[in-house]
Amino acid sequence: MNTEVKLHPSSELLNQFVHGELAAGKSIVVSAHMELCESCSAKAKELQALAVSSWVDPSSAVQSDQTSEADYVNMVAAIVTSSQIKSAPIEDLVEVDIDVLDHSIKLPKVLAKAASQGLKWKKVAGGISEAQLFIDDETQCEFIYMAPGGKVPVHTHQGSEATLVLEGSFEDELGEYKTSDFIIRDAQHNHQPRSKEGCLCFSVLDSPLQFTEGLARLMNPLNRYKFKKATSRVA
Ligand SMILES: [Zn+2]
Repeated sequence: MNTEVKLHPSSELLNQFVHGELAAGKSIVVSAHMELCESCSAKAKELQALAVSSWVDPSSAVQSDQTSEADYVNMVAAIVTSSQIKSAPIEDLVEVDIDVLDHSIKLPKVLAKAASQGLKWKKVAGGISEAQLFIDDETQCEFIYMAPGGKVPVHTHQGSEATLVLEGSFEDELGEYKTSDFIIRDAQHNHQPRSKEGCLCFSVLDSPLQFTEGLARLMNPLNRYKFKKATSRVA
């Protein structure tokens, strides 16, 4: 089991997830982490139970002749069954072939499903390959493979970047991240992800990357174009 997961989504993010307030891309990366992390999965269930109980608090509910206790039971059952929250099915990970790896890898179900639309890998500079997925029109979602020794140019974010490590590890100025870790970076961070041993991640951006050093800055218009394309593809 993944007892060594160090980095988790914040309670605020889990709460937004439970209340369905996240764009689909963000929801998927949180949900994929929960498949790998029993503690977040349990926490999200608690938050959901809280949300449900506040909805059905008799003092705040409208009582009418038609509203029997049975209605409440049905309502709660409907909410719980329609829940996005799955119990942590670590055994249920789906084995998937990833083109840039010489072996197959087990992905959280939610990502395996997203990847089943087909991954088109593109090599970018610095030993990095990316396979973009169209999930929604607010987020740029992609699998990122960093070959051993690979690095991304130093960059910051106008919005935020959520990254889930699926295999291997990478590091930046703030630490080292391993399988199942969930990392959020935003405008406060200027960082350069790099990987010694190689790493497969799933990353969700809600604004274009902004390179901050050297010639890589020339690629910023391209980053903006890429974001626009990733969030407007109709195919
Ligand atoms: Zn967690």
